[in-house]
Amino acid sequence: MAKFPSEPFRIKVVEPIRRTTRRERQQILTAAGYNPFNVRAEDIYIDLLTDSGTAAMSDGQWAGIMQGDESYAGARNFFNLEETIRSITGFRHFVPTHQGRAAENILFGATVRPGQVVPSNMHFDTTQANVLARGGRPVNLVIDEAFDPTSRHPFKGNMDLEKLAAFIQEVGPENIPLGMMTVTNNSGGGQPVSLANIRAVADVYHRYGIPFFLDACRYAENAYFIKLREPGYADVPVLEIARQMFACADGCTMSGKKDALVNIGGFLAMNDEELYRRVCQELILREGFPTYGGLAGRDLEAMARGLWEGLDEDYLAYRIAHTRYLADRLLEEGLPILEPPGGHAVYLDVLRFLPHIPQSQLPGQALACALYLEGGIRGVEIGSVMFAEEDPETGETVYPALELVRLAIPRRVYTQAHLDYVVEVCRRLYERREQIGGLRYTYKPALLRHFTARFEPV
Ligand SMILES: *Cc1c(COP(=O)(O)O)cnc(C)c1O
Repeated sequence: MAKFPSEPFRIKVVEPIRRTTRRERQQILTAAGYNPFNVRAEDIYIDLLTDSGTAAMSDGQWAGIMQGDESYAGARNFFNLEETIRSITGFRHFVPTHQGRAAENILFGATVRPGQVVPSNMHFDTTQANVLARGGRPVNLVIDEAFDPTSRHPFKGNMDLEKLAAFIQEVGPENIPLGMMTVTNNSGGGQPVSLANIRAVADVYHRYGIPFFLDACRYAENAYFIKLREPGYADVPVLEIARQMFACADGCTMSGKKDALVNIGGFLAMNDEELYRRVCQELILREGFPTYGGLAGRDLEAMARGLWEGLDEDYLAYRIAHTRYLADRLLEEGLPILEPPGGHAVYLDVLRFLPHIPQSQLPGQALACALYLEGGIRGVEIGSVMFAEEDPETGETVYPALELVRLAIPRRVYTQAHLDYVVEVCRRLYERREQIGGLRYTYKPALLRHFTARFEPV
């Protein structure tokens, strides 16, 4: 029987959430064109759309909000954040940004020229889009196990070192302005990267004189996975593991909306002084003065405090086990999920859940809608709606290898009873899965289709 880790916090403030009737949900879903992105958050009972910016802040963070120094330049909260980031990452320079993608935009603006290539284990979609926006080419070189939903490799986010070395030789290091690595690998299911792999990747990049940047959004969850799974680290403090991860790199981009436990915020850190100067120019143009970078003083304070809280070992033990609990309960009920679960989400494996619906009838979207209709739960399709492409030569639709519904877990937000409710709704759906039908498009936009597309039942 799966065990729930008791929370290392208690509840001081509550936010009511509303249950709806099936009749109401059917009307809401029809009006939303069978796209949960179009449903008002107030009409959702359990919202597992994303773990980004959805964390519950602590009383310490809220107290910090009251101590925001809203001076235009040199606010005290900036210096607190600077000390925090320096202590955790060791990087010499940093600038705050309003979120992770702003850090990417500024970093690539200062480094990437048209035609250049940026390798990573797997770029997150905003990272990929920001490389493309500068005329660069993002390349993913994760190990093959990342694409096998049943492989239990402990570090499915690892870079394939042979592919990386071969790739650098093929395109030439002079065409690679920087190399990256996403920890944990969000696009690959929140899977961690081992410290040995981070070290080896750093060695390869540095052998060719290529600066190495971590996409560090979930660095604390990654560090905790290293403690749990990598031989030799069981007794090493997570803070020390995190420092060793950052010590391999020349800088990082960070979305504070993940492991810094804030609702908005991010930063870009680096060692290179000359790069820092250029980054400041770009920052002033796009985000703000270097001591606030698009955030209020209070947001800087909440992020500084959240960074420390996100590294707390009791919190991380709870966080990783909380996600694991949902996965284990679903497995106990015989439901098909991606294994092992990542740090921030559990993924339903739709091709095994709804084998009777062909991918042309969008089974992932159909399951996401069924979850809402059955229980007011919002997950997100990561499958044919998001990724199916037309072959430019034959005009035929090419469907992705994996069809998933992601159930992302907001940090410190939902209780065991909430997760048990999610399991119960999934189990009921699985029992009568043959009655779930496919969908077809009524509106199919050309770009970033999943956000605004509309559907109807086949
Ligand atoms: C969320 C995320 C980003 C972008 O951060 P935002 O704060 O949403 O702009 C970049 N990389 C990864 C891996 C992420 O998960």
